[in-house]
Amino acid sequence: MSKPAFSFEFFPAKTEQGHEKLLSTYDELNKLSPAYFSVTYGAGGSTRSRTLDIVQALSARGTTEIAPHMSCIGDDKSEIAELLEYYKTLGIRRLVALRGDLPSGQVGMGELPFAVDLVKYIREHSGDHFHIEVASYPEMHPQARSFEFDIDNLVNKYQAGANASITQFFYNADSYLYLRDKLEKRGIDTVAQPLVAGIMPITNSSNLLRFADSCGADIPRYVRKQLTDFGDDRKAIREFGFDVVCRLCERLIAEGVPAMHFYSMNKVEPNKRLVEALGLTA
Ligand SMILES: Cc1cc2nc3c(=O)[nH]c(=O)nc-3n(C[C@H](O)[C@H](O)[C@H](O)COP(=O)(O)OP(=O)(O)OC[C@H]3O[C@@H](n4cnc5c(N)ncnc54)[C@H](O)[C@@H]3O)c2cc1C
Repeated sequence: MSKPAFSFEFFPAKTEQGHEKLLSTYDELNKLSPAYFSVTYGAGGSTRSRTLDIVQALSARGTTEIAPHMSCIGDDKSEIAELLEYYKTLGIRRLVALRGDLPSGQVGMGELPFAVDLVKYIREHSGDHFHIEVASYPEMHPQARSFEFDIDNLVNKYQAGANASITQFFYNADSYLYLRDKLEKRGIDTVAQPLVAGIMPITNSSNLLRFADSCGADIPRYVRKQLTDFGDDRKAIREFGFDVVCRLCERLIAEGVPAMHFYSMNKVEPNKRLVEALGLTA
């Protein structure tokens, strides 16, 4: 059985101290030899300067690829073009292309209202310079008008030039396998254009439950109940969470998942522990 590739997601820190800490987190996780690190971007430009700063710092720090996230909702093509040119100057070759969600109070979808429009625009602007990842939803995007419509949208993103997609996090392996089968049936070769499993380590109960509710990710009842029962017992949450996520990943590996993208939450230990326990390192 071949080992899946793996990568980590960071979000830009809010303070100088957080920025420094993120650099040392990078150093630790980089020792595991991931395929790349991605860095999130606040739609509407809310983290623009912080994302650019950390992308620049990480690009200069090592040879591991850095993949900035880019959102399009509310932006003009000229703003996107400026970012693409900037990233080229840093030697960036990989992007995660997203629609994003408008910050509350901001109106207007902009010139590129959906992620598929962004993928088309990046290809039009930069040809094959960038490897493009998009988002996918094994449990359906919460605003999609139907599951089938959402799968059509994902197929459109692949056909517009996305090289791969990274899933929203999930704890039910069957939802991932179902989506993969659906893509194959729609003619997407998921070896050539992989469905990368987005993996969220469980380290905290209230944040995870809140986040899952907001992005439409299902927390199975047996997980939700136990997390609630553990209350403030962080060690119990950590050990239970490790067990749940490890089992999920083992099942995905047995099913031939090509790659895993860890939503690192800018932490070393939970991610390092999973990667090592799963034997993903070289
Ligand atoms: C791996 C990953 C990374 C992420 N990183 C970030 C980040 O860095 N910053 C950030 O702000 N957010 C991020 N997000 C969240 C993401 O931006 C939101 O989930 C957002 O709501 C949808 O983005 P998308 O790229 O999936 O949009 P799209 O693929 O455009 O889909 C959005 C919705 O629109 C629907 N849709 C598509 N086309 C049409 C149409 N023509 N008419 C009507 N409806 C349509 C789709 O079915 C879906 O419901 C990330 C999500 C994932 C899974």
